[in-house]
Amino acid sequence: MAGIAIAGNPNAGKTSLFNHLTGAAQSVGNYPGVTVERKEGVARFNGRRVSVVDLPGTYSLTAYSQEELVARNFIIEDGPDLVVDVLDASNLERHLYLAIQIMEMGAPLLLALNMVDVAKRRGIQVDHAKLSELLGVPVVPTVGSKGTGIKELLQRCIEAIDGKVAVSPRAVTYGHEVDEEVDTLAELATGVPLLVARYSPRWLAVKLLEGDPEVEKKVAELGGEAAPALLEAARKAVKAIERHCGDDCSTVIAERRYGYAAGIMRECVTLTGEAREMNTDRIDRIVCNRFLGPLILVGVVAALFFTVFKVSTEWAWVPWFGGWYAPVDWVEWFFERLADAVAGLEPRAPILHSLISDALIAGVGGVLGFVPLIFTMFLLISALEDSGYIARVAFILDRVLQTFGLQGKSILAMIVSGGLGAGGCAVPGVLATRTLREEKDRLITMLVAPFMNCGAKLPVYAMLIAAFFPHRHTQMMLLLWAFSWVVALCAAWVLRKFVIRGEQTPFVMELPPYHVPVLRSLLLHTWERTWMYVKKAGTIILAINVLLWALMYFPQPPDAANVSARFQAIVPSHASEAEQAANALAHSYAGRFGRALEPITQYAGFDWRTNIALVGGFMAKEVVVGTLGTVMAMGDVEPGQSETLSQRLAGDPAWNPLKGFALMIFVMVYAPCFVCMAVIRRESGSWKWALFSTAYSTIIAFVLTVLIYQGGLALGLGIP
Ligand code: GDP
Ligand code: MG
Repeated sequence: MAGIAIAGNPNAGKTSLFNHLTGAAQSVGNYPGVTVERKEGVARFNGRRVSVVDLPGTYSLTAYSQEELVARNFIIEDGPDLVVDVLDASNLERHLYLAIQIMEMGAPLLLALNMVDVAKRRGIQVDHAKLSELLGVPVVPTVGSKGTGIKELLQRCIEAIDGKVAVSPRAVTYGHEVDEEVDTLAELATGVPLLVARYSPRWLAVKLLEGDPEVEKKVAELGGEAAPALLEAARKAVKAIERHCGDDCSTVIAERRYGYAAGIMRECVTLTGEAREMNTDRIDRIVCNRFLGPLILVGVVAALFFTVFKVSTEWAWVPWFGGWYAPVDWVEWFFERLADAVAGLEPRAPILHSLISDALIAGVGGVLGFVPLIFTMFLLISALEDSGYIARVAFILDRVLQTFGLQGKSILAMIVSGGLGAGGCAVPGVLATRTLREEKDRLITMLVAPFMNCGAKLPVYAMLIAAFFPHRHTQMMLLLWAFSWVVALCAAWVLRKFVIRGEQTPFVMELPPYHVPVLRSLLLHTWERTWMYVKKAGTIILAINVLLWALMYFPQPPDAANVSARFQAIVPSHASEAEQAANALAHSYAGRFGRALEPITQYAGFDWRTNIALVGGFMAKEVVVGTLGTVMAMGDVEPGQSETLSQRLAGDPAWNPLKGFALMIFVMVYAPCFVCMAVIRRESGSWKWALFSTAYSTIIAFVLTVLIYQGGLALGLGIP
């Protein structure tokens, strides 16, 4: 005979439902060895007989009370065909806490949404279809005292037992720091056959993290040789979580469960009339409000950017050798000194000097120059994350972003990448996609985040706007900001539709309780993230830099006379030092490459000089300004001091505003820089997506630029 176990909080209405299901066919006894009452009966439906057990009422499934142990062991040891969890719809959040724990056990589950009459009277409306969709288990509304819904309940139970409806609950999520540990432990546990034969690996993992003594005992008993390693891994995981969250691990997990329950409530429960006044979560009422929420969001993000840029690049607050520096300037100062230190090499070993100063120092300096910015950004974003606010942001924007194939939490990555037009960086942006659990959502976000206007694109925009749109600075920046979002959202939509296809699975967004972040764990966490950036990105960009340097350095023109003969069309003879540099560049592999591309890129309005600059921009977008300066025979142009290059471009008959605009759009959209590419590779786990990202964005950039340039020409804008 198939068996059903009825679980639930005390007073949820279990016994009432049990009585309706079994009628008079009941027996009462005790569970072996304990004084907990055991009630059993038989339900009949269309000639079928199903045994029903009324489990003791519990609020939780820890190992602290006899009732909890009895209920939990019954579900594990007796393995009923179905667990019916009775929830009080008028008090849903608290009752979901137990339901979530049964979900963790991976037991076949059906929810009886009881007391819907009381809920209705109190103005609480529960969308049970949505609840069922979110949790992946059937939900049947009932009124236990009157017997309403009993027939449907029994029918659904039979269908569930017969395998006609899905009863496997979705995996509960606890926020990414905890989830990562749960995944690792669960995977370890999967390797122990005696354990997985009995327990769900994820449940074991969660219980080990909670330090459940019963489970630890069982692991030691059944785990055999694997037990010590598993228990040790669990201890380490507990430490990692406690270090990050600054709180006891079992408390953290309990909190995350409440967060999960709160997320379900937000999705499935509508409050009408005075019930709204009973809602205790006053902060969420304001923060998640449909109108106020987005306004607060804009305020918070604006404040974030203001602080990040002030602290890391504008306010001079780091004392150093009698002066005060902004952290970014301090790093720059350091690398300038380094460059000075090797300057003596130049006459003796020009190639070595160029390698050290142009490729190594400039390259590493370029990467490390971002560190103060990234550190501050990570620190503040970690603080927002730990406080619980980011979860609300994702919640507010979820619906809009889903239309485009993204999801609520994608917004974090987009903002970090520069989604506010105020500058950011796609490298931490791609890292921020870690908060997305769904692999496809993660990939899509990672592929569109680099379209945002990161800090490295700003010098290019600044230079070109100064050259061609000197009186429209604000309008142009706004236009570029809007353009980046249009491209990103359209790309996301297309990717979801044609490339990374798949239904977006409904999921619960955890709404963890608000918290004051713990400074120590914030700093630690931020340091870990920053160090990873320095280490991984630093090694890769270094290698790429040396390569690009070689391409722009070799082969050297044989001698000046010879060069002016061969490149007379490009540079006049009697070249100045700056012209000689341009000359050498034209002669290098990079120069030849730029010329080879010209027949294609001319449709977008780019000549060979622009091509070289753009190839340099693959390394880092701000390189475009410097390289363009070099090829325009201006000598090295620092991104900050580009006025002269702007004037030069404005006066050059080969240039016009249309070309300038096309170039800005190309720089915005084409390939993410190498650091970002390396991070995409790391985070997506394969070069395939890194290369795809580079290829598809460069193609989109080219198509867009050709459309803009040719369209502009057709409209009579710009002189060819
Ligand atoms: P248990 O502790 O989970 O076994 O809960 P009981 O079945 O003993 O029910 C507790 C109380 O709630 C009893 O007074 C029931 O009559 C009442 N009750 C059960 N279900 C409902 C319901 O759906 N609506 C209302 N209004 N009362 C209910
Ligand atoms: Mg009872």
